[in-house]
Amino acid sequence: MTPAVPANFGRLPKRVTVYEVGPRDGLQNESTVVPTAGKVALIEALAAAGLSRIEITSFMRPDRIAPLADADVLAAQISPRAGTRFVALIPNQHGLLRAQAAKLAEVAVVLSASETHNKKNINRSVAESLAEFRTLIPAARQAGISVRAYISTVWGCPYEGKVDPQHVLAIARELAGRGAEQISLGDTIGVGTPLQTARILEMFLPHFAPEALALHLHDTRGTALSNALVGLQFGITTFDASVGGLGGCPYAPGAAGNLATEDLVYLLHGLGIETGIDLDKLVDAGRLAQSLVGHSLPGRYLKAALAAKEKA
Ligand code: MG
Repeated sequence: MTPAVPANFGRLPKRVTVYEVGPRDGLQNESTVVPTAGKVALIEALAAAGLSRIEITSFMRPDRIAPLADADVLAAQISPRAGTRFVALIPNQHGLLRAQAAKLAEVAVVLSASETHNKKNINRSVAESLAEFRTLIPAARQAGISVRAYISTVWGCPYEGKVDPQHVLAIARELAGRGAEQISLGDTIGVGTPLQTARILEMFLPHFAPEALALHLHDTRGTALSNALVGLQFGITTFDASVGGLGGCPYAPGAAGNLATEDLVYLLHGLGIETGIDLDKLVDAGRLAQSLVGHSLPGRYLKAALAAKEKA
């Protein structure tokens, strides 16, 4: 039953795609290296819960990100599954070849809107990243592979502070012009507020269809869900989230990072928005994620659901 939404609440999308980043963005920021078999089990649990797009790993140099050093072996063990698209992050042409070998239907590229963050994160200037993607994105598309592009630090940079949304828009338009089908705007350090989110989207939406954008929100300061609600009111239909909030925040040790998938799904279902996700099965995946990393995860819905199960 779809709850009736009061007219002045805003026009909400009927259906939203939740893009799961836990196995990549989450695990890459965990200190525990999860064995490949554990990752496969987690990815399968997420797919079984109804997640239709799951970012499974990153084809970086194996010595760069120890928790994801098994990327090729892992990707080879993920079998195609009707209704779920598996995605991997790629930094360059070599990464694209690895994604092709793994027969992935979609890849993602990443750069930051701010110079210092891009330099520290990827060891390139923003211009160098854009130059790489100018050939990489069309190469992927020619190979029949979909491309999403992440832009990090859109709401603020841990080194430079404020980021100019016009600058972000120029980067996004360039990436879309090269063939990126979806631009995921990232609040990498979780500083975003609803008004700021509204201003960013107001600037973007004359240039992008809402479906061509995704919001990658972090909950470091507790604003991820309120920013997601603003996104919904602007018609955004794709939101990134990480099972249990896996990954934490590298810039604020001990604080929350990625928005937890269960928290987002609870919000969406409460608004009568379809996701195709079974929240109970998602909690099972969250419990598995916790056991794999060996500590409790920050997701609120997960904590509540597990506490209720324990009490029953
Ligand atoms: Mg993230």
